[in-house]
Amino acid sequence: MMQVFMPLNFLGFVYREMKGALANIERMFELLDREPLVNDKPEAPALKMNGGTICFDNVAFGYHPQRPILNGVSFEVKPKQKVAIVGASGAGKSTLFKLLFRFYEVSSGEIRIDGQAIDGITQKSLRGAIGVVPQDTVLFNTSIFDNIRYGRVDASDDEVWHAIRLAHLDQFIERLPEKEQTLVGERGLKLSGGEKQRVAIARAILKQPPIMVFDEATSSLDSHSERHILAAMQEIAKEQTTLVIAHRLSTVVDADNIIVLDQGQVVEQGTHEELLEKQGHYSALWLVQQQSQRQSLQRSQRQADD
Ligand code: ADP
Ligand code: MG
Repeated sequence: MMQVFMPLNFLGFVYREMKGALANIERMFELLDREPLVNDKPEAPALKMNGGTICFDNVAFGYHPQRPILNGVSFEVKPKQKVAIVGASGAGKSTLFKLLFRFYEVSSGEIRIDGQAIDGITQKSLRGAIGVVPQDTVLFNTSIFDNIRYGRVDASDDEVWHAIRLAHLDQFIERLPEKEQTLVGERGLKLSGGEKQRVAIARAILKQPPIMVFDEATSSLDSHSERHILAAMQEIAKEQTTLVIAHRLSTVVDADNIIVLDQGQVVEQGTHEELLEKQGHYSALWLVQQQSQRQSLQRSQRQADD
């Protein structure tokens, strides 16, 4: 009996997981209840990866024709580079990511991956090449180990452990009541935002897509969790082309290029040091964040003194 039921259970497990992942990405882009807006061209070929260069070439876009959101956006991410997109809320950062996934068509300009316009290849191959670490990772009611293995269901135990270590989850798992077999998710242990994000990172390490996208959202994390996430992200960024939406500038200091978006336009780009020297948008953002960090530090010191 067991032998008959096990594979069926496992298939059900995989199916539920797939549905979960899909819901996850859709939720990330607030695309539930929406008709697909783009179609593959007839006989479109699959994307042929060759290193993972991403190129935004003079891209313009608006959700409604009367209201342009992005205007003449150009930048390039070379293979294995880490590039950050920063800017005020509403600047158009998430819109850039939605266009990269081709959830919408650009109104003019072109987005290319390894020289291939993304509207000329299949959406399946495009999305298969990109991994996402979303703000809110979905966990399934199964062990933490299986939750991570979901990144690639045929991964060996050794490979899963390797991903766990790279995502800096090993010490966390060591402290769990039943170690890696501890149940997590709605009916199991609740994980914090930072722990969930590290699960997503471990999944991505297993999947090894050539392109990684982080919607980083570390703003809700304490500095201890943030350090762990940063270390894990750095592991991934070494091997993959990485694009990060950065809410906290402390996470972009090491980026190869930082793109500052303001009202749908690239107003500055460069490394952290180059941008500080310019004393423009970026350095102003940096000063504000440094100040608020100092204030919250002082607050917590005062509370500790009381
Ligand atoms: P950011 O991620 O930088 O905060 P977004 O890319 O989410 O900015 O949004 C840029 C602008 O596009 C905002 O003015 C936002 O209101 C608008 N916008 C975002 N999503 C949609 C949508 N689905 N339909 C219409 N307008 C949208
Ligand atoms: Mg956003």
